[in-house]
Amino acid sequence: MGSLYEIPIDKITGVGEKRARLYGKLGIASVGDLIRFYPRTYEDWSVIKSISETTSDEVCCVKACVDIAPASRTVSGGRWLASTRISDDTGFVKLTFFNNPYISRMLYRGREYLFYGKIIDGINGREMVNPQFAESSKSPIIRPIYSQVAGLPSKSIETTMRYGLNMLPEVIRDTIPNDIIEQYNLMDLKTALCRIHFPLSQNDIERSRRRLIFEELLVLVLGLSTIKNMPDKLTSVKITKDYTNEFLTFLPFKLTDAQSKSISDCIADMQKNNVAMNRLVQGDVGSGKTMVAAAVAYTCIKNGFQAAIMAPTEILARQHFESLNNLLSPSGINVGLLTGSVTAKKKTDILEKLECGLIDLLIGTHSLISDNVVFKNLGLVVTDEQHRFGVRQRSTLLAKGANPHLLVMSATPIPRTLALMIYGDLDISIIDELPPGRQIIDTLLIDGSIRERAYNFLKKNIDEGRQCYIVCPAVDNTDSGLKGVEEYAEEIRQKTFADYRVGVLHGKMKTADKDAVMTEFINGNIDILVSTTVVEVGVDVPNATIMMIENAERFGLSQLHQLRGRVGRGENKSYCILVSEAKNPDAVRRLKALCETNDGFKIADEDLKLRGPGDFFGSRQHGLPELKIADLAENVDILHDAQAAAKALRERYINVNDNELRGLRAEVRMLFHSVGTQLN
Ligand code: ADP
Ligand code: MG
Repeated sequence: MGSLYEIPIDKITGVGEKRARLYGKLGIASVGDLIRFYPRTYEDWSVIKSISETTSDEVCCVKACVDIAPASRTVSGGRWLASTRISDDTGFVKLTFFNNPYISRMLYRGREYLFYGKIIDGINGREMVNPQFAESSKSPIIRPIYSQVAGLPSKSIETTMRYGLNMLPEVIRDTIPNDIIEQYNLMDLKTALCRIHFPLSQNDIERSRRRLIFEELLVLVLGLSTIKNMPDKLTSVKITKDYTNEFLTFLPFKLTDAQSKSISDCIADMQKNNVAMNRLVQGDVGSGKTMVAAAVAYTCIKNGFQAAIMAPTEILARQHFESLNNLLSPSGINVGLLTGSVTAKKKTDILEKLECGLIDLLIGTHSLISDNVVFKNLGLVVTDEQHRFGVRQRSTLLAKGANPHLLVMSATPIPRTLALMIYGDLDISIIDELPPGRQIIDTLLIDGSIRERAYNFLKKNIDEGRQCYIVCPAVDNTDSGLKGVEEYAEEIRQKTFADYRVGVLHGKMKTADKDAVMTEFINGNIDILVSTTVVEVGVDVPNATIMMIENAERFGLSQLHQLRGRVGRGENKSYCILVSEAKNPDAVRRLKALCETNDGFKIADEDLKLRGPGDFFGSRQHGLPELKIADLAENVDILHDAQAAAKALRERYINVNDNELRGLRAEVRMLFHSVGTQLN
């Protein structure tokens, strides 16, 4: 199997340069990658239903005779429409085909075929639209369905897959050693790879999936334990004294216990002998992570080093700069701001000061990682809302010092269960407490029919001097069909909010324009900000008290919670209004869950239960690799088995002379390579 990763995909019959590029979009470069590209789902043509057995909306396979020769005609727009009727002993179904002028040459009257598709109850009885079909003499099979990209349909991948699997040698070395295969009753690798793509029965699907999920989780667990056992990074950034108490004298408020604990966790890390801190601080929106960063930076600076804070957006960087500059400059600390929009002259000045050590704390966007940014003695790197940064960007910034300490702050809580399972004893601090006096944000779920009432509520709040956000899921309606922010804003400007100041903010605007709008909003010159989720990240406008979210079902729960965190930041009672027409019970349950709790960790747990961990891992925000087939929330039992197996294999795994585990080591390397972690 291993060697197939070295054979480029275009060596397969039928795959030329163009197709190879399309495969590249799916992350497939080699024959090995192809074989590890598992079906998304299956079409089961092996279970044949009689027409009377089928129910409306069911996707199924029927074996039936064509009663009428299909008649094709063109309809408006030059499209083709063909219709016919099929029957078996129990009933008949009307078939409609769109855009296939060849149907009459593919389906013959009086002949029997298999038809696969969705049955619907139309006004004239049972119907199928654009079903797939095959000659009934062909033996019934289960067909794989692959995620496709434009130009590369699932069917074509299926064909290529058959060629790819034929390239597997007669006997392949299994990645999992024999004793484990037997102990956990696993399918062998070659059979599993063949059956996952071309199963002969549902049982085949189950068994091959279980084997491949087990393997993937084993690889994940072995990789993670290797990372945990990697020697600590040494550093020459010596923090000899803790200055937190001095820092506290500048604060206008008392830290929460959770903030204090996080700070002391960090200081303890930095005081550990010559070892660089590598800590993740997780805290719900509004839990006061910035102060944790400020305190840690303060101690670092007082010990004679520079510190850097990298924020994901210009607005946020500026906000951090303003609050920390106010807080720290009385103590003689020099704070600098570096973003894309700082003028060239000012930039030169900042860079010079930075290099000779006149700036102690540099705050900025990813501008911080550009080549010409040189520190005198960088001792601490803080990245805020880390999921916006790739692992590489973070390491580029780290490389500007001699192994500085790293503090990563995240507002997207990893559900506790998942964190424990995956990270075990990794360095995480959790701020699970909000500063005292924080408002509970009342969250309401409504449908569009009472939108006007909601608008009146916004007006009432604005008339009392407050401000509001309205968030829409799309910038424009070109590909979503949803009302975009521009259009939405225009509409309310014309109608309901004609007497109010309405601003627009979205990601496609130029940075300077975005900033201008945001500044106006911060200064109270805009009453209603209609925006996309660009407001999601960390902006602090205490006077904003209502967050209204249109098409709320389009967002993940954790994301909605982040958005909601934009209000309730001041002394006034705040509200979140979710507008949704969703009828689907799952969607409604998700949104209701949000109305019931303000606890980000509970919401993350709920999100995990309802949507799976895709959100947490898909975005790679925690530096974990993306999984192909295993699902950490679904496959907990298999995960436990894989953990036990990893434990049993550990000694042999780290013995590089143990050849039987070569394939497994290679898989571990490949999985973690994707997230930029080099494992041996
Ligand atoms: P987040 O964790 O979302 O980054 P911030 O650091 O932006 O939260 O803090 C939110 C607000 O709470 C800020 O206005 C900050 O000044 C304030 N704050 C932080 N810690 C405390 C505290 N211990 N007591 C009162 N207010 C606090
Ligand atoms: Mg923040």
